[in-house]
Amino acid sequence: MKVLVVGGGGREHALAWKLGQSPKVREVFVAPGNAGTASEATNVDISATDVPALVEFAKTNAIDLTVVGPEAPLVAGLVDALEDAGLRAFGPSAAAAELEGSKVFCKNLLRTADVPTADYQTFRNAGDASRYIKDKYPEIGDPAPVVVKADGLAAGKGVIVCQTREDALEAIDRIAAQKEFGEAGNELIIEERLMGQEASVLAITDGETIISLPAAQDHKPAFDGDTGPNTGGMGAYCPTPIVDEEMFEKIERDVLVPVVHAMKRARKPFKGVLYAGLMLTNKGPKVLEFNVRFGDPECQPLLMRLQSDLFDILVAAADGRLAEIGQLDWDERPSICVVMASEGYPGSYEKGREITGLAQAAEVPDVKVFHAGTKLDEGQVVNDGGRVLGVTAIGNSISNAKLQAYTAVQKIRWPGAWCRKDISDKAL
Ligand code: ATP
Repeated sequence: MKVLVVGGGGREHALAWKLGQSPKVREVFVAPGNAGTASEATNVDISATDVPALVEFAKTNAIDLTVVGPEAPLVAGLVDALEDAGLRAFGPSAAAAELEGSKVFCKNLLRTADVPTADYQTFRNAGDASRYIKDKYPEIGDPAPVVVKADGLAAGKGVIVCQTREDALEAIDRIAAQKEFGEAGNELIIEERLMGQEASVLAITDGETIISLPAAQDHKPAFDGDTGPNTGGMGAYCPTPIVDEEMFEKIERDVLVPVVHAMKRARKPFKGVLYAGLMLTNKGPKVLEFNVRFGDPECQPLLMRLQSDLFDILVAAADGRLAEIGQLDWDERPSICVVMASEGYPGSYEKGREITGLAQAAEVPDVKVFHAGTKLDEGQVVNDGGRVLGVTAIGNSISNAKLQAYTAVQKIRWPGAWCRKDISDKAL
């Protein structure tokens, strides 16, 4: 069988690596891929959002399964276009991807399905939103524990967590008046700020059956101790002990199952990865957001532990036969992924710096180095993005996995390389 993975990050490297382990898979293509996928699959020079070119490639090469990594091609209708061409694809339709593409759609669906989430109001213009804040918090300097969110996709930047009334007014101005996030800010949400630990629970679904994956914990802020600006994610580990069995069952029952049903009722049946970003509050887990694809970096530690055949699972989900798969097999041992980033990330950074020590890192036992923003330049691996590598390890305990991952990290060098030093410490 031939598989096409769409995307070029660490998540896609992990997907290509795991799919390539299936005895049924003969060839894996990655579009556009990175230097890591080039070494264990075939890179195809097509951008992840070039829907017509991807469909043409899949048709011409008789691809048996296309797996779409990032959200943008899903929202742009890649899965619909592939299916219209008679091809099999794993991921939601554009209509179902609205669950991530529109936060207003997501919140309204959660409210209708009675799924626990922060209280919220939606607004279509800056004036109404500002009036709401001024009425609720009348005095200058009033504490305002709210979060202001642009409706559409804004690469994680359209969410502004506020402390005071002035923060909230400024956030409204940036999103709805200055249009800092463009059309994504045509609608906005003001919601209650929740307190607690964050966790991610992902499930694979065919629209009827769901298979939940072990809970993971991402690390969004750039620096140790969850300080600094938000990033795409600086590391993750799984399973996380902060979601115990009882909590996990509650999340399945009160969040994942009702959302799959509600999507069906909304005539947007959901097929693909349903990713619940949760705040574990003292009143129970509440949904922060839904993503419609594997998280990056959560995908890397998850796939490091998966022992079942990923190809079988994704084909069954794409074909609406997920019930036939049953329980998945997992390595009992925990895993952790440490993201190594370019100097300056999440701000601007220089590209093209040569990366050394990858071979030595690969020799560290129970470690796999997934590439993200890398490319080959005259035979050398160089940095080509903000998040560059996802050094992933598995171990008998979280601290053991952490030790292995950071041992490998120390072997890898390029000018300005950095990473968080505390990935998984929340579990210890
Ligand atoms: P991404 O897609 O990059 O994960 P996003 O733009 O979809 O991000 P959210 O996940 O909704 O944004 O929010 C980003 C972060 O903002 C969350 O991980 C959380 O830390 C914080 N956040 C969002 N909503 C709330 C809330 N109601 N209370 C407290 N913190 C929140």
